[in-house]
Parts: sequence; structure tokens; C-alpha cells
Amino acid sequence: MKESREASSNFLATIINTDLESGKHDVVVTRFPPEPNGYLHIGHAKSISVNFGLAEQFGGRCNLRFDDTNPEKENQVYIDAIQDDVRWLGYQWNDEVLYASSYFHQLYEWAKWLINQGMAYVCDLSADEAREYRGTLTEPGRNSPYRERTTEENLALLEGMKAGKFDEGSRVLRARIDMASPNINMRDPILYRIRKLHHHQTGNEWCIYPTYDFAHGQEDAIEGITHSICTLEFEDHRPLYEWFLDNLPVPSRPRQYEFARLNVNYTITSKRRLKQLVESGTVSGWDDPRMPTISGMRRRGYTPGSIRTFCDMVGTNRSDGIVDVAMLEHCIRDDLNENAPRAMCVLNPLRLIITNIAEGHVEQVSAPIHPNREEMGQRSLPFSGELLIDRDDFREEANKKFKRLVLGKRVRLRNAYVIEADEVERDDNGEIAAVKCRLIENSLGQDPADGVKPKGVIHWVSAAQASRVEIRLYDRLFNHPAPDRTDEDMMVHINPDSLVTIDEAWLEGGLENVMPETVFQFEREGYFVADRYEYNAERRVFNRVIGLRDSWGEGK
Ligand code: ATP
Ligand code: MG
Repeated sequence: MKESREASSNFLATIINTDLESGKHDVVVTRFPPEPNGYLHIGHAKSISVNFGLAEQFGGRCNLRFDDTNPEKENQVYIDAIQDDVRWLGYQWNDEVLYASSYFHQLYEWAKWLINQGMAYVCDLSADEAREYRGTLTEPGRNSPYRERTTEENLALLEGMKAGKFDEGSRVLRARIDMASPNINMRDPILYRIRKLHHHQTGNEWCIYPTYDFAHGQEDAIEGITHSICTLEFEDHRPLYEWFLDNLPVPSRPRQYEFARLNVNYTITSKRRLKQLVESGTVSGWDDPRMPTISGMRRRGYTPGSIRTFCDMVGTNRSDGIVDVAMLEHCIRDDLNENAPRAMCVLNPLRLIITNIAEGHVEQVSAPIHPNREEMGQRSLPFSGELLIDRDDFREEANKKFKRLVLGKRVRLRNAYVIEADEVERDDNGEIAAVKCRLIENSLGQDPADGVKPKGVIHWVSAAQASRVEIRLYDRLFNHPAPDRTDEDMMVHINPDSLVTIDEAWLEGGLENVMPETVFQFEREGYFVADRYEYNAERRVFNRVIGLRDSWGEGK
């Protein structure tokens, strides 16, 4: 696996390198061409990292071009969100943002050019008829009865289509290539459709819109793209991409290269399906922290660096595969383990009373902000006779495997003293309301003098100084490794426990004002980010980014 990954991660770089060395190109120009019909997801992050990454690596340029040829599903909201996402990932496109729609006039001129060459015609077959004429993978198609129209007639009809004289679906402009081609894409593909729709960029100027195939390569040529990198499903379109470039007076000659789409298990990478999750209210929006969108991952607490690392790690190759989501989780965990400041937060509180500390006494203990990075400094933790610990860290009785607090036994309070549990207090329902303990003298940073060592280490906060926070425990959105590849509806595979909220958790004193999007490791609990939108002075919401335990590579 490792070998193929290394070899393949270089295949586009190798091509570019050769083209630069041979003098075929002086500079590499790539583009990232999203259709603004949804938010970008982790698959797009891969494409961004390939296109911007190669331009960066070879000192070239990468354009951000909105592929806005299908106004029906497109929206300015998506245009804005996509730009935010690309910038947040740390990439800067060349010059202004570009739009396929700004080439509509040129494309129209080129459509007329093809008609004049006898290479395009207006076809009046209905969609059903056209399907019938197209043939199948094993049978050739048949020529449309409209294929022999004269140049004048075709030009007039195209003009009429543009002027809005005909109904949607009544006519299309087609290339005149070869209805018997083994490649179905070459069987007189459609160049223009009538769509009487308002366009977010061009308004009501057009009621015919070019197809992806007729637009993409020509846009690349106009922009001087040298390497037009797309995913494998466009491989069969490449002959058509080249046919247009061969037959039109384009200003430059781009080449298309394909690589395999990124698929991640337990994850959906289709805008259409992600949209379904949003529209059905299954998630709170495109940027719900459980969404594999770039904005969702950002809100979840992923860093741009972790996403870029992941995109590098999965490699760039030409064979389809499915990447384990644990690899993505590994990348963010690794980043945060290295960089996130530490803090203590008690999610399920139990009172702990230290009987040999005077009431009202508060002292400060010092703890590293990061255990392995001295340069990050120290934090000062208020310590007192009334603490909160996690309910799961205490048992009245337990066997030796339980390395936390047990009645009659000792435990170390992380960054502070050793304590010994003496008795429990119960409420009216018989539930444990508090644990009474004794502090072992002189045990700060050293073992107790009597030689009785603590069993383990637990986290805590000082009750009076801790501040209340709200916690959202996020987990994978789907509990099936291939939620969109089963016979059932993907909705049946939604993990019902993908969000568990805790209204009252208690964060160590001193962290009352953090900036939204700050990530901490809550020691022994996991990594948590102050929500980008909902963390504020009144309501302090933290999202769990990821737990501490890394499962990547297990079971292999
Ligand atoms: P979706 O299927 O989610 O709608 P798309 O391909 O239709 O995706 P576009 O906006 O057209 O979405 O994609 C922009 C670019 O991102 C294209 O070049 C496309 O090939 C690439 N891309 C989309 N999904 C992936 C993926 N899973 N892995 C790698 N590249 C991808
Ligand atoms: Mg697409």
C-alpha cells in the first residue's frame, strides 16, 4: 500500500515536471472548478489540494473558476461559502474569481463557428427520441433526421433559441461527430440547451446554456490552463474535450488528466446527498459539525493543516478506493495532540469535599499548558476544599483494574495533590451526592511520604472557580461504513447518537473568555473547540472534535 501511494502521489507532479523540463510549458496553470450548487466537502478538499498544491509546488498559478453553467441549482450563498472554504484551507487563487458564465459570449461564437464548419446542428428530437437514436454500449446510434440541416437554417435556429423563440426541451444544439462511435460521449453530444432561467451572474441575458462538455475545455483554453485535472468519471469525456480544442480556434491547448475521487468510509461525498441531509433537517445545516463539508469540519474543530495533511496522505492515484475515516480522524488528533493547549473540564460532575482543607481556602497550583511544549508556558489552577470530579472516576468498590478513586483508596488529582476517599454522602434518593476525602500532605508533585502510592490520576476542577459550559459530544453521522452504497435509504444508517448534549459541564477557572474556534484538549476526555457561532459570553458551547483514542491502523 505504501509503495503505490508514494508512486501515485507523484504521477501528476511527474507529468508537470516533464512538461516544464521539456519546455512544453514555462509555467503550470491549474484551476479548481466547483459548481456553486452546494458547499464543498472533503472530496473537494482533495481536489483543491491537488490543484492548488501542484501550482504551489511548481511556482505556477491556480484559478478559482465557478462552473456556473446550470443556474437552476446554483446560488450566490454557495459562491461565497466556497471562497471562504478555499481561503480557510490556506490557498489563494490567482487574480479575481472567475466564472464560466463570463465566457458565454465566446462560447456562443464558437458554437456558430462549429455550425459554419458543418460540425454542429440544431436537433428537434425529443429527449426520449434522442435516447432511442443514441444507441447503447453495444449498438451504434443512428443519425438524427435533423443532422443534414443547412448552415443557414442551423444559424437561424440557434439565433431563435437564443432569442427565446422556442420552448424548453424543444430543440438543442448538437455537435456533429459520429453516431457510431464506440464512445457514447462522441455520438453528437449536446452543446446547448434551452433553459429559461434567471442566472445569478448573467441575470436574464441568456435562455440557452452550454453543457459542461462544451464549456469546460474551452474555458480552460481561454484561461491558459496547462493541466486540467479532474476525476476519473471524466476520462471518457476526454476525446470530446480534445475534439473541441482540435476544431475550434482556441487560444491555448490545455490537457485533461484524471485521478481517482476520494471516497471515505462512514462518510458521504456527494453534494446532492449532503443537501438531502440539510433539507430533511437531519443536520442543522451545511456547516453542522457532523457534516463532511469543509465548513462543517471547521466548525467541528478540524484545522486546515490537518485536512491538508490528510489529502497528502491519501495520495493521488488512478485507482478507486475507499479511505478509512479513522485516517482523517488520526490527522486531526495528531495535530491537536501537538498543538492544543490542555485544560480540565468535568462533564459529569460529582462533588468532592476535602475535609482537611479549611472552608474558603483557595490556593493556586501550576500546570503546564502543554506537557511536551514548555514554550507554551504554565497555567495557574485554583485549588480548594470543594472540587468537582467526574462521576465515572469514583466507585465505592472496585477491582484493581479501576485506576481511579475508590473508597478507602488513593488517587492523584491531575496537576495537584494525592487524596484518599473516606466516605460518601447520599441524597434523599440514595444517590451519591458527594465524596469526602483527605488530602495527603506534601504530595504535590511527589509521592506520599508514607509510601502508599495513588492508583491513578483523575481530572478535577475547583467548584467555586469553575465555569459552566455546554458540551456537544459529536460522533460519526453514519453507523454504516458505506451509507450510500446499500440497498436501503442512507437515512436508515444515521447514527442516532451522533450528537449528545451536556447542558452543564464545568471548566477549570481562568478560561472564562476564550475566542470562538479555540481548541483545547480537555484532559482525559478528548479535544473540544469553542463553537464558531454559538460560543459567546452567555452561552459557552464547546464541540467535541474527536476523542483521545486513535483507532487508525487497528485490525489491519
Ligand atoms: P458532487 O458529486 O459532490 O456534486 P461534483 O464533482 O459534482 O461533486 P464539482 O463542484 O463539480 O462537484 O467539483 C469541483 C471539482 O472537485 C471537480 O473537479 C471534481 O472532480 C472535484 N471533486 C468532487 N468530488 C471529489 C472527490 N470526492 N474527490 C476528488 N475530487 C472531487
Ligand atoms: Mg461536477
